[in-house]
Amino acid sequence: MREPCLNSINSKGGDNLPNRQGEPRKRLFVALMGVTCLLIVGVIYLGWWIPTKGLENIHPALPGYVGLTFAILSGMAIMGTFLLILTTALGKDIFLTRLMRLVVIKFLLPAIELLGRCMGISRDTIRQSFVAMNNSLVASQKLKVLPDRILILLPHCLQLFDCDIKVTGGICKCLRCGRCDIRGLAELGQRHGIDISVATGGTLARKVIVEKRPKLVIAVACERDLTSGIKDCYPLPVIGILNDRPSGPCINTVVDTAKIEQALLSVLP
Ligand code: SF4
Repeated sequence: MREPCLNSINSKGGDNLPNRQGEPRKRLFVALMGVTCLLIVGVIYLGWWIPTKGLENIHPALPGYVGLTFAILSGMAIMGTFLLILTTALGKDIFLTRLMRLVVIKFLLPAIELLGRCMGISRDTIRQSFVAMNNSLVASQKLKVLPDRILILLPHCLQLFDCDIKVTGGICKCLRCGRCDIRGLAELGQRHGIDISVATGGTLARKVIVEKRPKLVIAVACERDLTSGIKDCYPLPVIGILNDRPSGPCINTVVDTAKIEQALLSVLP
């Protein structure tokens, strides 16, 4: 498995930090979520309308009852989408935000990825938007976590490829020469007393999380690894920060340390 390149962050309701293009990407996810909701409601309606013709033959009142059930399900889908949009827009934990994160991560993301593919939107664009939406929901929970319960998880591709030091054994081993972003991140961890782990793969990243048992993870990665990392970690809240790949994927990647510090300050008491 490729190393986890966990990463993106928001401001109001999670869009506090700009993405690389300076635009809040979660809008795309919200728009696709609305379309998905309409499609679900359409399917629910068809699920009622088609058998209605036959239900009448069983009992004259049956189509009415079944129709009512489907109307309630449709109402729940519409209300859920509305609540989700309101939560991310206001940046407040209005109602059951944790449950909404579950719905978005486990159910909506696969449906939205499928819809996006049908509409010709790239998977990475959808994933960037998903990460921004996830960050919004985490931010809306207004979590405050002590430094010793926060874990910053980095992909090892952030380290300069030619560096002889093995920071996977501990970021403190970095000699701080400044040729890669590890230096700034090591200093950040030291400044705030935060545990930082550098993982060489998704399996190792999961192992680190199981061992360290953090209450919140700030993860840096590429779109793919960040999306799978957020999914795998649920219900553990993960703030994702996308890395940049000026030299191509998985080698000498870079990250904006200021974004990580901003995410950190937003959750420190
Ligand atoms: S900053 Fe640290 S990890 Fe990066 S090249 Fe220098 S010694 Fe190696």
